[in-house]
Amino acid sequence: MSYVPRRAFEPRDRIEKVVISCPTCEIALPNGTRRCPMCQRNLAVPVRLIGGAAVLLLVLLLFGFLRYSGRIKNKVDALAVTPPDVLAATQTLVAGSPMVKNPTGFSSLSQTSLEHWDGRRWRVSGYFDSRTEAGAAMRTLYFAVVQYNGRTWDLEDLQLQNVEVSPAGTGRK
Ligand SMILES: [Zn+2]
Repeated sequence: MSYVPRRAFEPRDRIEKVVISCPTCEIALPNGTRRCPMCQRNLAVPVRLIGGAAVLLLVLLLFGFLRYSGRIKNKVDALAVTPPDVLAATQTLVAGSPMVKNPTGFSSLSQTSLEHWDGRRWRVSGYFDSRTEAGAAMRTLYFAVVQYNGRTWDLEDLQLQNVEVSPAGTGRK
């Protein structure tokens, strides 16, 4: 009977030493090798870490892009005006028109018809009250076309129609 030491078949020392390999050359190298002797690749920084850094960079870029596009979206939304915006702008423009003298009140949103035309134009139909020189209360229908260029409002068209005149001293104050 021959006795073969178990150790001869399990070169543990060598296996434990050869633990890393060059990802490019796929050759086994002793643990702690900093640079691959074949391709000179730096092995000190694990590939997994580089991959992780790349993913992190990608995520940061994505976040940056999302924030940037969010800002663009906010800009676009700023151009989208609400019906109260349209009404307020129209009332200011109508009140400032030389055709309109001393308006005392405007029709509310529910009493006004807003029609969104192409892009940034609205047709606004409502009324305003005013007083004649004699002091009578007068209600006037207005039909305005207003335009918003993203910053300022313009009165494109204004038509007025007097519908009701109360005698002086009576009616609305
Ligand atoms: Zn290599």
